Amino acid sequence: MQSRSNDPFELEAMTALRRDFHAHPELGFEEVRTSAIVAEKLEEAGIEVHRGLGKTGLVGTLKIGDGSRRIALRADMDALAMPELADRPYKSGTPNTMHACGHDGHTVMLLAAARHLARTKNFSGTVHFIFQPAEEGRGGAKAMVDEGFFKQFPVDAVYGLHNMPGLATDEMAVVSGPQLASSDSWTVTYRGVGTHGAKPHLGRDAVTAAAHFLAAIHTIVARVVDPLQPAVVSACALEAGDFKALNVIPDIVRIGGTARAYRADVRDQLELEIGNIARGVAATFGIEVDYEFLRRIPPVVNDGDATARALKAAQAATGRPVVTDFPPSTAGDDFAFFGAEVPGAYVWLGNGPAVDGALHHNSRYDFNDDAILTGARFWATLVEQELSA
Ligand SMILES: [Zn+2]
Ligand SMILES: [Zn+2]
Repeated sequence: MQSRSNDPFELEAMTALRRDFHAHPELGFEEVRTSAIVAEKLEEAGIEVHRGLGKTGLVGTLKIGDGSRRIALRADMDALAMPELADRPYKSGTPNTMHACGHDGHTVMLLAAARHLARTKNFSGTVHFIFQPAEEGRGGAKAMVDEGFFKQFPVDAVYGLHNMPGLATDEMAVVSGPQLASSDSWTVTYRGVGTHGAKPHLGRDAVTAAAHFLAAIHTIVARVVDPLQPAVVSACALEAGDFKALNVIPDIVRIGGTARAYRADVRDQLELEIGNIARGVAATFGIEVDYEFLRRIPPVVNDGDATARALKAAQAATGRPVVTDFPPSTAGDDFAFFGAEVPGAYVWLGNGPAVDGALHHNSRYDFNDDAILTGARFWATLVEQELSA
């Protein structure tokens, strides 16, 4: 048996488990094997496990002492539907499924910290370890929240962590304010009156209306949103007519795109203004319009106090200066659904240099096992500091 004082986070076993998860990746809401192993390892350490919240999601609960404060730490477990192209001994054995975002590492780091905390019990209060399914666009966090996460497990703060190539494996970035953008989609459908291409006056032209709409939406970011607030409005799909019928003005034109922002009020503004332009152009051209704005993921915005606590834990865990000016990303993370309910902080942990240029979602990406110790130590330190006995 290994001496626990020399190896508080069971590094050898956890590294092997990380590679095992990498070799057996599972897509969102299909993390049956992964979550079963996590549940078993939590229960083995004496942690109470609640299964089946958000299908394959689970929550481990550790209550020590009589402290009344309750916090939640979140890891995601899912892989991506893509092939793994690098050769490594623990390469994915599942076709077109790969841990290309390092969630295999996130799962193991939180598990290592949970087991350590269950052994050492050096805090007073309640920790909920969230092992979330389906972060990669399939709605895992929303499913857990919709199924009553906060009712069953009320918490005062929630924390998330993501690996980041480019930072060293003993380096972290912890920044207050916006971290990740909201990620929403929208569609505009113009319904004109189709007619002969030679006789436009006999119809109502939805194609020309669409052209005006496409030009006008760029005035939202340029003229309506505060110039100091980042925002993106992009049209990404356009559907109308037929190249085999170039003498026909079609009835219907569909346009779709994405909208991103870092603040809730700017997000609201984008939803409102895209609709205003869609309807205004329809009125100008005397045609009908349907507008839909689909709210997918809110922005991740770090709370000031939660960030200060995470920063203190990151300093103690890494023993080196923490990066505090790391730029926000226009990517999204559905950790936002947890962070929208209670004060939260989402932090970055280095994954070392990008090997062969492979970044997140690249078919050669791999979580760096050297980061396991830093990540596990960060989680454990955060709990011991925030719920100090
Ligand atoms: Zn990802
Ligand atoms: Zn990810």
